Amino acid sequence: MITREQIHELAQFEDQSSCALSFYFQPSAPRNKAHKEEAILTKDLVREALRQLESNANGGHTNGTDKNRNKDKNKEKLESARADLDRILRLSQELRTHGTHAKAIFACASQNFWREYDLPAQLTSTQLSVNRRFHLKPLAQLLGSFPRLGIVLLDRHRARLFDLRLGELSERMDFVHPLTRRGRGDGFGGYDAGHAERRVADDALHHFKFIAQFIKDSLEKNMFEKWIIGCQDIHWSQFEPQLHSYAQQKLLGRFNAELAHVSNEEIRAQAEKIFSASQQRRCQEAVSETINQARHRARGVTGLRRVLHSLELGEVQTLLIGENYRAQAVECPGCGHLDAHLVSFCPMCSRETREVADVSEAILPSVIRHDIELFYVNDDPEFDKVGNIAALLRFRSEQNKTVRSIAVAPPYPSLGRQPGLVGRYRGAAAG
Ligand SMILES: [Zn+2]
Repeated sequence: MITREQIHELAQFEDQSSCALSFYFQPSAPRNKAHKEEAILTKDLVREALRQLESNANGGHTNGTDKNRNKDKNKEKLESARADLDRILRLSQELRTHGTHAKAIFACASQNFWREYDLPAQLTSTQLSVNRRFHLKPLAQLLGSFPRLGIVLLDRHRARLFDLRLGELSERMDFVHPLTRRGRGDGFGGYDAGHAERRVADDALHHFKFIAQFIKDSLEKNMFEKWIIGCQDIHWSQFEPQLHSYAQQKLLGRFNAELAHVSNEEIRAQAEKIFSASQQRRCQEAVSETINQARHRARGVTGLRRVLHSLELGEVQTLLIGENYRAQAVECPGCGHLDAHLVSFCPMCSRETREVADVSEAILPSVIRHDIELFYVNDDPEFDKVGNIAALLRFRSEQNKTVRSIAVAPPYPSLGRQPGLVGRYRGAAAG
């Protein structure tokens, strides 16, 4: 599975000759002829990508004496991209046979770049694209709002800690606090028997306190951002009062489980159910909070122009984008500025701008680099009314209090060059 660092690497990647290939493979549900359909689909996608590459190679910005040299260079690039596509095609034949995972491949032969990742089989479709940057929306849909998730299994003398990332469950720790043996002094006429029982209860309480402290420390050290607990009701009633309020706030939910008998598959399924319900809640809350804050000109902005501005100011905590939102914009190749007005020259540095077909894709590298929480909003009439793009802010900077046109704003650090400010605050900011 893919790590945060690997996603950042993808977000940073750029190929000036537009040969960055992104291939997402979603295995189809097993049914008749499904395999065959997948093979045909991939072949069609590859053919289409080749056509696009060829038109890129022929339409280079060449003039004068460099023309022939560039032509050769383009031809070389086309050949290496063709090799990438062949490799993808061959690989897709193998992918058909085991359909438990989806797959993502990012390739750029001219820069010697090839990365393959397994993903949970939750992509919307199989797709292939060729562009200046990698196509990251499917990845962002899976990851955008994924916190580092800890799962704690607990009983009276043992606790196991797992983390869950992209459908993959891994065990991190196993604590055992052996209970004082029950009935050690039973021979001494009842007094010691009662004493031993109390000691067992004391030991359990000690264990619960220790684990509660451990959870708080882990959250503070950002080992995980949210957590889920699996235990029996009887233990929960004793454990819950030991929890620090900070840990309580970060708890997404509890499921009933017996530590000694529950399977990893069960843990994963239960945790994912709790997680996806909490995500839905969180997304709805974020939408209504953002709209409300924007109405009061406080910690919320709506509409593309304001959202782009807030991203450049480094104010954004949570970004909300309509599932099917698309909008044109221009981008400055010099400073990375994105502008909702289709201006020919960058208002920040005066360089000639270039068009971006879909601004919601163009902002993703920066969103990913800065670890901004991201939700794709589905079918929400209120959200539709405010333009299908909005952001909840960590703070509202002075410059944004009176909304000015981007064109007259002073030169802020570009989206692309800002050194991870947002990310650093995210742990503290995430609700
Ligand atoms: Zn610029």
